This record gives sequence, C-alpha cells and structure tokens, in this order.
Amino acid sequence: MIRLENLTKTYLSSGREVHALAGVNMTVREGEVFGIIGRSGAGKSTLIRMLNLLEHPTSGKVWLQGRDITPLSEAELRQVRRGIGMVFQHFNLLRSRTVLDNVRFPLKLAGLPKNEQLERAREVLSLVGLSDQAAKHPGQLSGGQQQRVGIARALANHPHLLLCDEATSALDPETTQSVLRLLRDINAKLGLTIVMITHGMDVIRAACDRVAVIDAGRIAESGDVMDVFLHP
Ligand code: ADP
Ligand code: ADP
Repeated sequence: MIRLENLTKTYLSSGREVHALAGVNMTVREGEVFGIIGRSGAGKSTLIRMLNLLEHPTSGKVWLQGRDITPLSEAELRQVRRGIGMVFQHFNLLRSRTVLDNVRFPLKLAGLPKNEQLERAREVLSLVGLSDQAAKHPGQLSGGQQQRVGIARALANHPHLLLCDEATSALDPETTQSVLRLLRDINAKLGLTIVMITHGMDVIRAACDRVAVIDAGRIAESGDVMDVFLHP
C-alpha cells in the first residue's frame, strides 16, 4: 500500500542543516492500522507530509499503491490526495458551517453534483453515528463529536487511505478510546488502511496492528505492536 524507500528530508534553518528524516524505510500493508510513534521533534509531522507529498522529500521514494509518487506533477498529486483522507488534532472544522456542510465541503471541491454531495455526506455521518447532529454547528458539539465530524469529512471522498495526525491528542482519555474504537470499526467495516501519527503509547496499544518508532528522523524499531512493546 505504502512503501517509503530511503526517504530523507533536510531543512535549512538559519544556515544550519536539520535532518528531519534521515533515511526512512517503511512499509504499510493494505487494510492495516499502522502507528507511527515518537516524541516531539522526532520527525512525525515531516513524515506525514511526505505521505501525501504536501512537501517534497530531499531524496528517496514514496510508493503509493505500487506507484512512485515523487516524480508526479502538482495536478497529478491533487488527484492522488483525493484518495487520502486527513484527520487533524484540532479537527479544523469551519465554525460558521453546519456539520452537514463541513462534511460535504470536500465533495463540493471535487465537483460532485449536489444531490450526491448530500447523499454521501449523510452516509458518512451515519457511519460515525452523527446522523442526528447534521444540522448543528460544530460549536454545539462535544470534542469527541467534533472529531467524529472530522473523520466523516475525511471519509466523504471515499479514500483508500486515512492519515490521522495526533487525532486524539486534544481529547480526554475516555473520548480518546471511543474515537479509537470508531476508527477500528471503520477499518474493519471498510477495510480502509489507516496510518496514525501519535506521541501516545495508549493510542498505539488500543488501535494499531503494527507500529514504527521514530527517533531523530530514523525508524528505531518496527513490527507488530505485540512484539515491539512488552505487554504488562
Ligand atoms: P515531530 O512531528 O515528531 O514533532 P517534526 O517533523 O515536526 O517532528 O520535526 C522534525 C525536525 O525537523 C525538528 O528538529 C524540527 O525542528 C525540524 N523541522 C520541521 N519542520 C521544519 C521546517 N519547516 N523548517 C526547519 N526545520 C523544521
Ligand atoms: P450550493 O448552491 O451548491 O449550495 P454554495 O456556494 O451556496 O453552493 O454552498 C453550498 C454549501 O456549501 C453551503 O451550504 C455552504 O454553507 C457550504 N460551504 C461553502 N463554503 C464552505 C466552506 N469553506 N466550508 C464548508 N462549507 C462550505
């Protein structure tokens, strides 16, 4: 599904080179929930920006569904990104829009006819258990509900890959667990491949099949969650 091949990203920061990624090799399999864990500054955000090529690597390749996407044009990349759903830490919902409009917004951007936008938006809202909240505004919902809206919006384009960037870091432990259960549910129901970036071990334990530990821009360890971490 995803293969990162000797990926490097070097930033120039006030005349000094920062090796945010220093030769990352990693494979994510179709249909799995894959976690990337590391502390602050380890390179997680840089890595996630490489997966949808929001930023270009300094060297190396990003294979997505058998295709190296690093040489693609910006127009081709837009097409690729349409198949990738993103879930953010702070939800990134538009407060002046209803839940339904937030969810159908990417479909509008994709140029779907309005009746299909509405049909799809209702379908994904039902998937996240928020059918009855469609007419509300995000500010009227709890944090956990807002993130469910964020997940519905990410699913609206029927992506083949879901990228979650610290998706539960703004939520309390109980809500975190319920959002993680939802993501696992969606993974099982749709067979959707999910990649989660987190600094939280609880997230990896609760939701992921496999994990990569990133440290100073390198994969320090990777494998089945059960094998990488000792269970109490
Ligand atoms: P994490 O998400 O794990 O906290 P990041 O990917 O944000 O880590 O950062 C990895 C390293 O790259 C850090 O040393 C950070 O300061 C540096 N870095 C990230 N983005 C930039 C940038 N745009 N310019 C310069 N340095 C950056
Ligand atoms: P239409 O005639 O298809 O309804 P509009 O431009 O009036 O076209 O907008 C359609 C819906 O999309 C509106 O209900 C509006 O609230 C919503 N919308 C427009 N811009 C945004 C946005 N930036 N984010 C979320 N929803 C948006």
